[in-house]
Amino acid sequence: MNTAPTMFSKILIANRGEIALRVLRACKELGIATVAVHSTADADAMHVRLADESVCIGPPPARDSYLNIPQILAACEITGADAVHPGYGFLSENARFADILAAHGITFIGPSGDHIRIMGDKIEAKRTAVRLGIPVVPGSKGAISDDVTAAKVANEIGFPVIIKAAAGGGGRGMKVARTADDLSEALSNARAEAKAAFGDDSVYIEKYLGKPRHIEFQVMGDGKGSAIHLGERDCSLQRRHQKVWEESPSPAISAEQRERMGGIVAKAIGDLGYAGAGTVEFLYEDGEFYFIEMNTRLQVEHPITEAITDIDLVNEQIRVAAGAGLSIKQEDIRFFGHAIECRINAENPKTFAPSPGLITGFHTPGGLGVRVDSGAYQGYRIPPYYDSLIGKLIVHGRTRQECMMRLRRALDEFVVDGIQTTIPLHRDLVNDPDIAEGNYDIHWLEKKLAITA
Ligand code: ADP
Repeated sequence: MNTAPTMFSKILIANRGEIALRVLRACKELGIATVAVHSTADADAMHVRLADESVCIGPPPARDSYLNIPQILAACEITGADAVHPGYGFLSENARFADILAAHGITFIGPSGDHIRIMGDKIEAKRTAVRLGIPVVPGSKGAISDDVTAAKVANEIGFPVIIKAAAGGGGRGMKVARTADDLSEALSNARAEAKAAFGDDSVYIEKYLGKPRHIEFQVMGDGKGSAIHLGERDCSLQRRHQKVWEESPSPAISAEQRERMGGIVAKAIGDLGYAGAGTVEFLYEDGEFYFIEMNTRLQVEHPITEAITDIDLVNEQIRVAAGAGLSIKQEDIRFFGHAIECRINAENPKTFAPSPGLITGFHTPGGLGVRVDSGAYQGYRIPPYYDSLIGKLIVHGRTRQECMMRLRRALDEFVVDGIQTTIPLHRDLVNDPDIAEGNYDIHWLEKKLAITA
């Protein structure tokens, strides 16, 4: 089933940390040689140690190394890599990078530059979703710049409304207007924030949903007009729009809803001619799904989907990019049990202030149904320059209850000394009655943190 595609002999991994390791593992299993790239701050990193070759691509700041396209191209030339896996973050959703690689005859393991571009502009993405038959949040048809149009749209859809940046990402450039009186100020604040963060002040208006869940569908397209879905992930537990804990299946979705929405999404992505892994994100409220955006890359939380489907998503990405197609059909996909991922960040678990530094002790949990993806080890010094995610704990069980039981045990076993991590927050969450019931929406965690602060 998973025979090695013959097209790639060497893959360069344009990333760092746990995701670089994740990709490296898939390459090893396929017998493909690997090249790690790293900044001077990451010379001792695990992804560098485990790769067949490594190239230093610049000083610590990401813009000079992991985002430095000429340096990464040079590393491809030097090592003779014939494909690049971008991981997530950094250059993974950079259409220009995908185009430049293609122009140099190097395969970008991901969708086409054009598909990245469409989904990277949220107004264009929403328009495309509508065209493909995916339900969207009611709102403006295009960009809004003046107060009069904003008021007209807001009155049509009804308050509260949310103003969002077309170029948005990471929850920036979003402002809520509760009433007509707030609208003008929210509009100008959102535009100013969008301009500062993305250099583009186009914004659009959507109905603000009061208590939605964040539900996203994993898709894989073969680039030839077919696509499959691998079920949903519930990522409602967020702080400042950043996911903290994810689970699959969602405690709020039935098998019928999964099949219906998954079918709509897979058909749409197939019709688009999309190649590789993608995630179609929805807000879900009162039984209805509303598209918010599509991520054209592998997600941090992909392992929970792998746990319940037993499908290696990176292996499938490589196969599709190599022209070998998907190894599975929709009817082959079975969903088994329940999986939860806890993001372990090097942060103070109460204030969330970053906590880089030397890890003096490191012991990861094990046992049935437990997976830890991390580049950390005892004696590793976490550099202060990058994202604070240092690992992911993924636990699988036959039922949600068994998964929670195992997660509680695994979190108790996890030891990270020398720095602060978010493990204590996860220990609180796993013992919370609302979480036990699966009873939470996208605002739940912020409310809990406000109470316990
Ligand atoms: P970004 O790309 O910046 O992450 P998204 O469109 O994915 O932006 O939205 C991020 C988060 O913002 C969502 O998960 C949700 O918590 C909140 N959000 C976005 N749109 C709405 C909406 N229409 N109503 C309520 N909350 C929203």
